[in-house]
Amino acid sequence: MAIQIKTLDQLKVMRRAGLVVAQIHIAIREAIKPGMTTDALDVIAAAVIKRGGATSNFLNYHGFPATICVSINDEIVHGIPGPKIINDGDIVSVDCGAIVDGWHGDAAFSIGVGTISAEDQKLMDVCEESMWHGIAAGKNGAKLSDIGYAIEQYTNSQGKYGILQEYGGHGIGTEMHQEPHVLNFGKAGNGPQIVPGFALAIEPMITRGSARTKVLADDWTVVSADKSRGAHFEHTYCIAPDGKPFVLTSIDGGRADLARFKVEISDLL
Ligand code: MG
Ligand code: MG
Repeated sequence: MAIQIKTLDQLKVMRRAGLVVAQIHIAIREAIKPGMTTDALDVIAAAVIKRGGATSNFLNYHGFPATICVSINDEIVHGIPGPKIINDGDIVSVDCGAIVDGWHGDAAFSIGVGTISAEDQKLMDVCEESMWHGIAAGKNGAKLSDIGYAIEQYTNSQGKYGILQEYGGHGIGTEMHQEPHVLNFGKAGNGPQIVPGFALAIEPMITRGSARTKVLADDWTVVSADKSRGAHFEHTYCIAPDGKPFVLTSIDGGRADLARFKVEISDLL
């Protein structure tokens, strides 16, 4: 399937979906604390989606039974909310999305709950910053693989981390998952050229150990094969018609984070 090129009006609807996703993140970051169940986070997300006049793109996705994915410690992505208790010192990764008027947003973050070790904090910081490196590299006129190259180079410059290979980012628009698949590693200069109207979800997933993963018996939860802890960050961004990027799932459009890379965001959204 061809890459879906969005008009400015379509990107504006995607911005509305992205802001609902951003509000879910804010609500969960505020609420999360030791002793909570992962189900309680799901309830919060569902309420924000309802209040925002949106619908969930996770619920019933290939049978997924909840509004968000919650993955703890060696679980990296696709964990199912339930009665599991969040403990002090856990890394909790939350992934969620929303649909507004048929257009999708998708974003994820990891957070340390209570007292977190320096090594775990660095894991999360490296993962988040690698995502920004990827978004900054995925500028108008770049090649798609420049994104994964930037993510991998930055991650490897920070220490020994496993970058998941079987999972990656994706195009997003009238479906949550569209062409192209976006690798979090690889050589620069390959693949389609990034042009105005592209919307991509960039989502590095790394561990403190092996990049190898297993899927648990629930058929969803992805864990590291060596039980090392993981982190996951994701934003949906686009290239606006003026050729500048805009991060649709970030409250400030990515202005502050991309300024570190001397990348200016679009004023059109
Ligand atoms: Mg996601
Ligand atoms: Mg995604």
